[in-house]
Amino acid sequence: MDLHIIGGEPTDEERAAVDARLGAPASGWAGATRDIARDGRTASGGTALAADRHLLLPALHAVQDRVGWISRGALNYICRRLSVPPAEAWGVLTFYHLLSPHPRPRIVAHVCDDIACRLGGAERLCAELEATLGAPLESGHPAADPTVTSDGASAPLADTAVRSAGASAPATLPRLGWQRSPCLGQCDAGTAALVVRAGDPPARFVVAPITSAAHLVSAMTAPAPEPVLRVRAHLGVPRLLARVGRVNPGELESYRANGGYRALARALTLGPAGVIAEVGAAGLLGRGGAAFPTARKWEAVRQQSATPHYVVCNADESEPGTFKDRLLLEHDPFAVVEAMTICALATGSDRGFLYVRGEYPLAEQRLAGALTQARGAGLLGPAILGSGLSFDIEIRRGGGAYICGEETALFNSIEGRRGEPRSKPPFPAEVGVFGKPTVANNVETLVNVLDILEEGGEAWARQGTSLSTGPRLFCVSGRVERPGLYEVPSGTPLRAVIDLAGGVSGGGTLRAVLLGGAAGSFVGPAQLDLPLSFEAARAAGTTLGSGVIMVFDDTADLGDTLRRIAAFFRHESCGQCVPCRIGTVRQQELLEGQLMGTASPAAERAYAELAAAMTDASICGLGQTAASAIVSARALGLLSQEPHP
Ligand code: SF4
Repeated sequence: MDLHIIGGEPTDEERAAVDARLGAPASGWAGATRDIARDGRTASGGTALAADRHLLLPALHAVQDRVGWISRGALNYICRRLSVPPAEAWGVLTFYHLLSPHPRPRIVAHVCDDIACRLGGAERLCAELEATLGAPLESGHPAADPTVTSDGASAPLADTAVRSAGASAPATLPRLGWQRSPCLGQCDAGTAALVVRAGDPPARFVVAPITSAAHLVSAMTAPAPEPVLRVRAHLGVPRLLARVGRVNPGELESYRANGGYRALARALTLGPAGVIAEVGAAGLLGRGGAAFPTARKWEAVRQQSATPHYVVCNADESEPGTFKDRLLLEHDPFAVVEAMTICALATGSDRGFLYVRGEYPLAEQRLAGALTQARGAGLLGPAILGSGLSFDIEIRRGGGAYICGEETALFNSIEGRRGEPRSKPPFPAEVGVFGKPTVANNVETLVNVLDILEEGGEAWARQGTSLSTGPRLFCVSGRVERPGLYEVPSGTPLRAVIDLAGGVSGGGTLRAVLLGGAAGSFVGPAQLDLPLSFEAARAAGTTLGSGVIMVFDDTADLGDTLRRIAAFFRHESCGQCVPCRIGTVRQQELLEGQLMGTASPAAERAYAELAAAMTDASICGLGQTAASAIVSARALGLLSQEPHP
């Protein structure tokens, strides 16, 4: 295979970025300058190179971080290093909105314009930024690259000044740029942006809240700000948040002084079956949205004869309105590492992946520090705490794709492929990452295991309801006095959580609450006594999803929110299956007609059929839930009501 078909050589800077991540190439066949004496005339080592395909996304990140975009020359070099066909690498590069195949300024702010930030004035901020920095950069994925044809041949390059082999960004590029972004998981701040500064070393940090365009522009060139902890009140004794704000997230000893690693010690005495029995006695259900029994998942992986087994921590929370896992990752990173180690013990796994949202730079930084310290203390690696357990964890940074929160899409992303969901069955317990048995849990689910082992499963299960045991984290945002993260026992009424957050801001009138995020549904004021448990939510025809409680008062423009939700799903659909790919486009069109009052009765009926088709026939949860919020808004009559200024 000729791997030079997209043409071009990398610049020295691009080559250095790739080599820093992958190591120096071993031969001319692996990307070094061809040396006949060393390399001979026959290619070798291709199979070994192809086995490193899973490093494709990290290598792309390396160039993006250093240079600010990924040129054809850089992509070509990565393809040679990993023996990846360029057309496939192009497909991966253009899948993620945090990666750019086009020249960009060195400093870019990704400004959240998603549903919570819209309530905080994101559109006004975007208008100010446009007046200050010019039009936003494009964040969409190019539908097709005219320079790469389906058979891999190169077409003439339209813009040779920019696209010529190994070209750097033209000198005319401005230094600062900005683009709109889906939810950044900073929903309690009101307005937020992820600032990415390319260079060596690169800088990535979040600015939230943003007080004005001038504030953001000056922050883009200033040192990274200190992180601000925003954790609000709780009912009862906090468990999940007990260490948040108390331990130093950068010090293993601080974590240990607050009870850290006691749960792992108990797990080692219980053994795999004992750990799973405790988790089963606790009745722990997954907190990522699907509410699957955790013990069953772990047992299914433990029983698999195929090896190796993998543990994947899904820290890619991207549901608009959700920020609970971010807080745990940033402020209690050792807890996530310890919980993954216990999961490895229970499932017979010796390798784990921590897949962190690309929009969470602080979490990634603190997790990397936690892993280093845990290895140094013998808490990761061979013979953990002198036992027979060997386990280590690798961090993988997401590229900015909501769909990668779906576990099989996440597996594909780890493997260096487009983050597209797989058809199930086979289920991950049998065929997961790299085709091997895999257990995937989200952050909140895993951290619960620590308390379960310390307290005992039955004792832990006394909190909550009989079917929804234990505590839950809720991300409260929108029109409340004190937006933030709240820990309450499962089954706590919705009204009580909103009251904890100070009620509707400014003494306003509550109009609706979005439960579960964009993939969730609206409930009205009549449902404020709904217990926040899986069973009560299901009986009421709604969902707790990832723990979003977004409050809308009677001044909120719900039409604007619904338009953003429809646009979000249209943009984030991976396009693999027709009901979702076409359905999310039609949904947006039909919604527009309904909001404008121009929809005919036939269009109204068509929408009902469309929503049913998406829900019933889509491959994965994205398509299956893409209509939920809009359908529920229609049922509550929210489409026809204008906001009261
Ligand atoms: Fe992709 Fe949507 Fe189908 Fe999921 S439902 S596989 S996101 S097209």
